Amino acid sequence: MKLAEYPRTPLAHLPTPLEILPRLTAFLGGPRIYVKRDDQTGLAMGGNKARKLEYLVADALALGCDTLLTTGGPQSNHARQTAAAAARLGLSCELVLPRVVPISTPEYERSGNILLDRLLGANLEFPPVTQGAAAIDTRREQLIAAGKRPYFIPTGGSTPLGALGYVRAVDELFEQARAERIDFSHVVVPTGSGGTHAGILAGLLMAGHSAEVHGIAVSGTQREKAPLVRNLTEQVLQLLDETTPLPVDRVRVDDRFVGPGYGLPTPAMLDAVTLVARLEGLLLDPVYTGKAMAGLIHSVRSGQLSATDRILFWHTGGTPALFAYQDIFARFD
Ligand SMILES: *Cc1c(COP(=O)(O)O)cnc(C)c1O
Repeated sequence: MKLAEYPRTPLAHLPTPLEILPRLTAFLGGPRIYVKRDDQTGLAMGGNKARKLEYLVADALALGCDTLLTTGGPQSNHARQTAAAAARLGLSCELVLPRVVPISTPEYERSGNILLDRLLGANLEFPPVTQGAAAIDTRREQLIAAGKRPYFIPTGGSTPLGALGYVRAVDELFEQARAERIDFSHVVVPTGSGGTHAGILAGLLMAGHSAEVHGIAVSGTQREKAPLVRNLTEQVLQLLDETTPLPVDRVRVDDRFVGPGYGLPTPAMLDAVTLVARLEGLLLDPVYTGKAMAGLIHSVRSGQLSATDRILFWHTGGTPALFAYQDIFARFD
């Protein structure tokens, strides 16, 4: 099937802006740096999950489901946008949020995305990490026993179907880049559950575009993430009946910026978030884009990206989580 033949439920504000970051570019003295503003997709404060949910929700509706069931960390942006999608379509939303991040400040437990999940009417549950999978199964069985029809969305909405949202996003980007006469040499994106990275890679490959995609891991290692992204990308290409092979060296995941773990702050993340806020008035987030920007800054400073390159930083959202990390930013000036 072709991309246009897959049912899609419009949820996001598209196209998102493509902007240059002139002061960051000048400050780093290297390549021109642009940003794709997927923090502005709408759907309860933006983020990359809105594009994936357009395809996932269409599937849920086609199957006659009445409840969206998903999972993620306590401050999951994916959970928040799923709750918003459910509210908008009159579906119920069940969120199973294992405590995968060892932070227990009052803001982390109540503010940011959790505040918004509750406001959006979702049902929340916070099992211990070791019982996450069991809690999802139990919840699904309870829903079915209660006569509901749950549609399960895995972490981050990173199924091949969800990743189609980023194949479509690449078309959107190319249209904007053509109009602005920009030819990107690199795309920098955070890599979590991998669907965003895979969708972008599949989209570029199908367009025959050679831009290098640098996935900056926000959890796990390169050895774990690269096969994950490769498999997902291949599955996306299959969904689209695309026979172009995926060269092994096109899957690049850099795991040097994760720090002590998923959702845990690093000095480089704090520096990157603060720098971009003060140079560009642009808000990043502590879990994903802050670490991805730390990776981009390092690549420029180490000479890995040169002055003739044109870099696209894909801002995937996450800014509501800033409020959950307020004590970490308050300690930093
Ligand atoms: C989920 C998320 C990501 C990671 O996207 P994946 O498709 O899961 O790799 C990046 N940034 C933000 C803000 C997110 O919420």
